[in-house]
Formats: sequence, structure tokens, C-alpha cells
Amino acid sequence: MKRKIFLLYGGKSAEHQVSMRTALAVVQALDFNKYEVTPIYITENGQWVKREALESPVKQLNDLIVQPTKKEENSITLFNNSKTNDNEEPPVIFPLLHGTNGEDGTVQGLLEVLNLPYVGNGVLASAAGMDKVIMKNIFAQAGLKQVDFVSVLRYEWEQDKEKVYQLVEEKLTYPYFVKPANLGSSVGINKCRDRNELEKAFVEAFQYDRKIIVEQGIEAREIEIGVIGNEEPKCSVVGEIVPKAEFYDYKAKYEDRDTALIIPADIPEDTYETIKQMAITAFKVLDCSGLIRADFFVTKDGEVYINEVNTMPGFTPVSMFPLLWKHSGVDYPQLIDRLIELGIERYNEKQ
Ligand code: ATP
Ligand code: MG
Ligand code: MG
Ligand code: MG
Repeated sequence: MKRKIFLLYGGKSAEHQVSMRTALAVVQALDFNKYEVTPIYITENGQWVKREALESPVKQLNDLIVQPTKKEENSITLFNNSKTNDNEEPPVIFPLLHGTNGEDGTVQGLLEVLNLPYVGNGVLASAAGMDKVIMKNIFAQAGLKQVDFVSVLRYEWEQDKEKVYQLVEEKLTYPYFVKPANLGSSVGINKCRDRNELEKAFVEAFQYDRKIIVEQGIEAREIEIGVIGNEEPKCSVVGEIVPKAEFYDYKAKYEDRDTALIIPADIPEDTYETIKQMAITAFKVLDCSGLIRADFFVTKDGEVYINEVNTMPGFTPVSMFPLLWKHSGVDYPQLIDRLIELGIERYNEKQ
């Protein structure tokens, strides 16, 4: 009997397009002899559209876009009628969603309430990992080294902009990185070298979130590592990102062919050990399960800072996370299988 898999993709998120690419790649890599694959497309407005189980992998992104016919679909009926008899295992939900309303614990909460197994991180880890301020506070408590930062609410900023800018300038020295607290793919992120750029960066970041984070900018190499597992997480090799752009912005991530991903990264063994330890600590303190990609900065002097974790990292075959695993001996289809197994394992432990 084939295991039923429901793929959730698209999503009400500024990372909708990134999720679409991930979904296309996953659909093509899933073993259709082993799984019955049902796509559920979430529109940019947040409508859920389910279609029949696929007969075979789709070839084009367009084939994954389904227009909603009804005004709204109820999520419970979406996942229901999937059991043909009582002995059948429940379907596994694969939330291939990045950013808000998907990577942030909201969809995970829905799946918990429906008592369905799903791939990846649970509610708490997803939510804490999505909010850079909460994440950094937890990391600080765990003693993980990271850059200084200031968190600002839109409300505070609207009350007295000058006061907020001064506060930031007292705490940090230019350049800064201004980011929406909850997002990814570098959307809404700007580097600022002076007050003028700071003001512009605030306006942009506040378009995406009511809370932003201002971080001390550092000169450093960017090193990333993959972690998979539940109670016993394991690390991949490390990779380095060398963007041609000023920093690893949205364009450098998805449009530039000039951004180099160097795997394995050429770093000293002890730096690799430090990164592995920090990544495992991050995984544990956020109570992660399934997978994360942890992003680091390594300075010229070999100091290692954690930047962030991503609880549903970019997942196309040319994304960093799958490439790191490929170089660690786990190819793309095996990685997907493993993540599904880990989701089922965690679900069974809770029953
Ligand atoms: P994703 O989820 O796609 O990895 P994100 O939107 O969560 O990205 P970050 O990883 O926090 O964003 O930052 C994006 C990029 O901006 C980094 O990869 C790096 O190039 C640059 N950057 C971010 N913060 C800093 C910093 N404090 N100092 C120097 N560079 C930074
Ligand atoms: Mg991120
Ligand atoms: Mg991300
Ligand atoms: Mg990142």
C-alpha cells in the first residue's frame, strides 16, 4: 500500500515563489511507486486548493498552480477522505512552505490539532526559528555567540523615529543590517551605512512586519550547515556562500548565477567542529525536529557567530541544504525519504 503524501506549497508569504520551486523539485524526486502524492496549492491570498492525487511527477511549475474554484476550502475536508480503511496509516503532510504562514508554526499548529503526521519542525521550533528576535534571545541564553542587535516595533518607531534611530546608533556602529523579524530569502533586508540608508531600510522592513531587527553588520565569510534528525540530530558538511553582490540578497539567492556555493567549505577542522557544536546546540535549544539549515559568519580571525536557523530551508536540488547532504552522502530522493521517516517517527512517539 502506498503511503499518502500531501504536499503543501505556495503559501501566503513573500516567499511564495521560492516554495513553488521547491515543490516542483520535490514532486519530481518523490518515488511514485512508494507514495501517493496529492498536491495542495496555497494561493498568495491564503486559499487552499487541493487536486486529485498525481499520476506521475509534473514537469512544469505551471502544472502546480491550481486556481481556486470555490471561495474557500476547509482544511479539515482537505485532508479528510484520505483514509480508505481503518488500518490505513494516516497521510503524511509535507509543508514545503517558506516564511510566514507556513514555516512559522501556524500550519504546524493546524496539523497538530488535526493529529496528522508532518515533515519538519513542530509548532514551537517553527515559530521561534521564524522570529529572529525570539531566536536570538534563545541563542543568547544558550551562550551562542552572535552579533549585537536591537529590536524595534513599528508602534515605537511611529511614536518617535528620531529617538529610535538614536537608540540604534548608540548601541551599534555602522554598517547595520535591517531585517523584518519574521521572514526569509533576504526579503525586506537592507545593509545601511549611514542614517539616510537606515531610515530607508526601516520603511522597507516595516512593510513586511510590525517588528524589525537591526543587527551589527560584520565582515565575514558565510558558512552554512545542514542538520537532520529528531532526538539525535546529525550535521552535514559545511558550505560557503560567495555572492557577487554586496550581500546574499534575494537576487543573489535566486536570480544570479554568479553566486558561488562552495561545498565543502575550506575552513580549518576546529572551526568546522565549533560550527557543528553550535548548530546542534541551536537545534536543541529551539527544540527542533526533522531539519534545519544553520547559517554562520566566520571572521578573518576565525571567530564563529551564528546568524540564524531556517526551519524549512530552500529545498530545490540546487539549494544549499540538499547540496550539503549530497556531499555528505545523502542524495535528494534519499533526503526526502529520510525527512518523511523522521516526521512519522515523531508522530508515532506522541501517539
Ligand atoms: P534565508 O532565510 O534565506 O537564509 P533571511 O531572510 O533569514 O535568509 P539572513 O540570513 O538573516 O536573512 O540574512 C541574509 C543575508 O544578509 C546573509 O546571508 C548575509 O549575506 C547578510 N547578512 C545578514 N545579517 C548580516 C550581518 N549581521 N552582518 C553581515 N551580513 C549580514
Ligand atoms: Mg532565514
Ligand atoms: Mg529562510
Ligand atoms: Mg540566512
